[in-house]
Amino acid sequence: MNNQLNTIQGKVVLVTGGSRGIGKAIVQLLAHAGATVVFTYSNSAGAAMDLAASFQAQNLQVHAFQADIRDKDVVEGLVETIETRFGPLFGVINNAGITADKSAVTMSSENWEDVIATNLSGTFYLTQAALRKMIHHREGKVIMMSSVSGLQASPGQANYSATKAALVGLTRTLSHEMARFHIQVNAIAPGFIDTEMVQNMDEAARKRIKNLVPARRMGTVEEIANCALFLLSSGADYITGHTLVVDGGMSV
Ligand code: NAP
Repeated sequence: MNNQLNTIQGKVVLVTGGSRGIGKAIVQLLAHAGATVVFTYSNSAGAAMDLAASFQAQNLQVHAFQADIRDKDVVEGLVETIETRFGPLFGVINNAGITADKSAVTMSSENWEDVIATNLSGTFYLTQAALRKMIHHREGKVIMMSSVSGLQASPGQANYSATKAALVGLTRTLSHEMARFHIQVNAIAPGFIDTEMVQNMDEAARKRIKNLVPARRMGTVEEIANCALFLLSSGADYITGHTLVVDGGMSV
C-alpha cells in the first residue's frame, strides 16, 4: 500500500524552536519518520545539544542550530547553510513563539514589540527565505504555529493574539501566491497543550483550563506533532491556506 501519510523519508525539514515543548515533539516524530531535521533554539543551548546528540546516537538525522529568528540576516544565513549542508529544504515549521502577557492598557512597548518581532516578523523573514528556495525546487510545505488565541478573544494577550491571528492571514495569502509552485502553506492552531508552561501552573488553574475544554483535558504535544506530520505528507497536497484547529472543541 502506498502510505501517503508518511512521505517525508529523506526530506529536509526545519523546525524553529525545537529545544522544548511542541517543537521538540515535532522534531522527535519527524526524525523517527526518516526526515533530516534541523531545529533551532534561542537560549537553551545545553538542552538543544543534548537533544541532537540523543538522536544522533540512534543514527537519526537531527541537527541543532542557535538562531534568533528576529534577525533577518541570521535566518537567511540559516537557510543557506541548510541547503549547502543537508540539501534542498522541503519543509519549514514555524513553531518558535513567545508570550508576554499583560492587559492592553498596561502593556509596555517592549512587551508589544518583542512578541511581534518573534512571532510575526521572524516567522515572515524565515518563511520568505525558505520560499525563495522552495520556488526553485518546485515543491515545499510551510506550517505556521498559530493558536486559538488568534481565533477568539484572549484577554491579557493583545500582543500574542494579534500575531497569531496575523499568521492565519499570512497563511491564506501565501497559499495563493505559492500554489502554482506546488508549495502548500497551512497553519495549526492549538488550544491548551500540556507543555512546561502549563505544567508549572497550580492545580486550581489547571482545573479551570480543563473545564473550558469540552474534551475536559489538555492536548498533548504529540497530538500537535501528528498534525504537523500529516500536513507535511503528500496525503495533504491538496490542503493549502487552511488553519487546522486542535483544541478539544474549545473554540467551536
Ligand atoms: P515553548 O515551550 O515556550 O518553546 C518555545 C520555543 O521557541 C523554544 O524552543 C525557544 O527556544 C524558541 N524561541 C523563542 N524565541 C525565539 C527566538 N527569538 N528565536 C528562535 N527561537 C525562539 O513553547 P510551546 O509551548 O511549545 O509553543 C510552541 C508554539 O506553539 C508557539 O508558537 C506557541 O505560541 C504555540 N502554541 C502553544 C500553545 C501551548 O499551549 N503550549 C498553545 C497554542 C499555541 P529556547 O528554548 O532556546 O528559548
